[in-house]
Amino acid sequence: MHNKSVAELSRELESGKISSVELTQQFLDRLKQEDGKYNSFITITEEQALADAKAADEKRAAGKASAWTGVPFAHKDIFCTNGVRTTCGSKMLENFVPPYDATVTEKFRQAGAVCLGKTNMDEFAMGSSNESSYFGAVTNPWGLSTGQKRVPGGSSGGSAAAVAARLVPAATATDTGGSIRQPAALCGVTGLKPTYGRVSRYGMIAFASSLDQGGTMARTAEDNALMLNVMAGFDPKDSTSIDRAVPDYTATLNEPLKGLKIGLPKEYFSDQLSPAMEEQVLNAVKEYEKLGATVKEVSLPNAKLAIAAYYVIAPAEASANLSRFDGVRYGYRCEDPKDLMDMYTRTRAEGFGAEVKRRILVGTYALSHGYYDAYYLKAQKVRRLIQQDFANAFKEVDVLMSPTSPSPAFVQGEKTNDPVTMYLEDIFTIAINLAGLPAMSVPAGFVDGLPVGLQIIGDHFAEARLLNAAHQFQQVTDWHQREPE
Ligand code: GLN
Repeated sequence: MHNKSVAELSRELESGKISSVELTQQFLDRLKQEDGKYNSFITITEEQALADAKAADEKRAAGKASAWTGVPFAHKDIFCTNGVRTTCGSKMLENFVPPYDATVTEKFRQAGAVCLGKTNMDEFAMGSSNESSYFGAVTNPWGLSTGQKRVPGGSSGGSAAAVAARLVPAATATDTGGSIRQPAALCGVTGLKPTYGRVSRYGMIAFASSLDQGGTMARTAEDNALMLNVMAGFDPKDSTSIDRAVPDYTATLNEPLKGLKIGLPKEYFSDQLSPAMEEQVLNAVKEYEKLGATVKEVSLPNAKLAIAAYYVIAPAEASANLSRFDGVRYGYRCEDPKDLMDMYTRTRAEGFGAEVKRRILVGTYALSHGYYDAYYLKAQKVRRLIQQDFANAFKEVDVLMSPTSPSPAFVQGEKTNDPVTMYLEDIFTIAINLAGLPAMSVPAGFVDGLPVGLQIIGDHFAEARLLNAAHQFQQVTDWHQREPE
């Protein structure tokens, strides 16, 4: 069962060949047995999962099932879950039990899906390797036979590793600068970061609010479509969520790709990319040509400024968002504070990890009097230029294709002492967040036995087109079906 997709499991449940309780128990047993190798979960909610599975079986028996009823999955530990600890990968929230559900959590509950637990992540979603989690690093299921442990990417590395290791068929994730696409690429799974505003951010712990977006991870594009069907939609509780009809994302998966116009941004095929990676990506593009697509070069002249702009804007927003963790309201509080100031400072010094502190310092500096114009305002102007580059490109083509990451999964510890090298992991993904666009990463080959991701970028609200393009590719390739040893 663990090798089946969400769509397949849904059919198994519908046929009555297996009950959700049986299926859930199988997945839980496997999860408990296997996850010691990966550390992809922070919390396993066995009792709750079995109770939900029982309820799902009853719902199905009563003829009230949806595609998701009784299907196991997991949530990234950034989505608040009523009554279930939600840590965001931080000591600050080690014992935080939210008294409410995120909108995304609530929607999966209503669909009858069975959540097995909460997946590991970089602390407050800051990172590209899942090594900044207070709950320990996550190990990529790929590359273990070489004797070296590799990173799964980040920040949604727990979700990506769990899907790749077949611990769950699907998991939620979030993407502020690449955190769905880069781990999906490094773990050989399919991930979608929707248009900013497509999925509610209510109850999703905030990192950089103008960039954060919840999305999907699974092995197939079809399963990503099934997930987005649940997650997408207007939410009055999120002032930036967009009131726009949600299509059935599975309905257009089989549209032919004949005439699809693909643009290859020349800035994304630069010297940052190894020839071996480039070859895999260009082979994937050739598959699209065989499917009837046409390809041309386009230019995103300001893309090179994306990392610099992001590392002003994201820390600036993070410094504001994280000021709520002061030891007063909720979360960690230091022991025996001398006075109020001692409580604030020690709580933060002890509760946050190094990368989070670095971001708060950078963000506070960038927003401070005298520097605001030089850094924050300038970065916002660059952001507008980047948006304009994409708008111009989409006048000429339907989708853009590029590598997702500059290299495959690297060895744990390799980049932890050099934050700037780590930040460059997102060189091909970050501009998309600055422009608020949707994008996917789709398994597209291997280099040295490690998965390579193809990034497909669409115009605002082009999720259905992206999923269609990814699904058609998966009908003629089997990269997404490959299993780590
Ligand atoms: N790696 C990027 C960062 O550390 C993006 C993280 C994310 O998308 N949440 O900020």
